[in-house]
Amino acid sequence: MKQIMSLAFVALLAACQTVPVETPVADSPIEVPQAETVADLPDPIPGQQWLYASAEASVAMRQAWASIAGYVETAASSAPTQSVVLTPESAPGQPSFLTCEGKPLAAVFDADETLIWNLGSMGYFAREGIGFAPAIWDNWEKTGAGKAVVIPGALAGLDRIRAAGVTVIVNTNRDAANATGTEETLRAAGIGDFSHGSTLFLRGDAPDGSGKDGRRAMISENYCVIALVGDQLGDIADPFNDKALSVAERRSMTDAPAVASLWGNGWFILPNPVYGPSIRGGFDDVFPPATQWEPTPPAETPVIN
Ligand SMILES: [Mg+2]
Repeated sequence: MKQIMSLAFVALLAACQTVPVETPVADSPIEVPQAETVADLPDPIPGQQWLYASAEASVAMRQAWASIAGYVETAASSAPTQSVVLTPESAPGQPSFLTCEGKPLAAVFDADETLIWNLGSMGYFAREGIGFAPAIWDNWEKTGAGKAVVIPGALAGLDRIRAAGVTVIVNTNRDAANATGTEETLRAAGIGDFSHGSTLFLRGDAPDGSGKDGRRAMISENYCVIALVGDQLGDIADPFNDKALSVAERRSMTDAPAVASLWGNGWFILPNPVYGPSIRGGFDDVFPPATQWEPTPPAETPVIN
């Protein structure tokens, strides 16, 4: 059994989600390993234990989805005139937003780890000690229907959003070549029927690769987008994914006064401690030197003769 390469897994799967990736080779032979019993395996990594199995994650997701639905209901009832999609020439530091021009309302969602948890592929990678394999992921996009599950709270939230007259649109970095498989996966998870090019937008639909701004612009040609929801900042706006940004700079960008109030009010991020550009940082990033602490040395034990 190969060692589980959690860091490589995180980095590479993050790349799959948010930045240009190696072109998946759909017809590459996939090695099918010998069957093993899971009892022989180490436990899944902590992030997977938390996200995919814990009661706390389930509660956090249901809280988030209730908040998203409530926001959308309120926004939809107020005849919004402004989208939450940035104009192409603006950025989070100095944002401007598209106008709605009387278009029908839409809420735009990422798919992976936003609408669905990819338990089938994640479990396979974990069991086999595979960090990430583009060919296997490509196969997952084609054949994973029924093995990805809807995130707790999402169905109730989507029902409320649809009842408010808001179209649910998915903007995912799954490959456009696998549109049928992704439509089947979303349908099998109970999320509904999506149609590539109208309610489902995929990597390859716009010329900016894994960037999603191009697809957000395409969606905005026909809709007033009142909510953007994802598990990574690239689900909101591509400038957040500038690789030159340090951990602190990226975080500061979300705190910029011009956009800080949008979180929970049109822009929503769901927790994903398993993979993605959020999983990075050295000791000084995670534990700033100013917070360094050491325990008080214990008092010397008195010597009694
Ligand atoms: Mg995602």
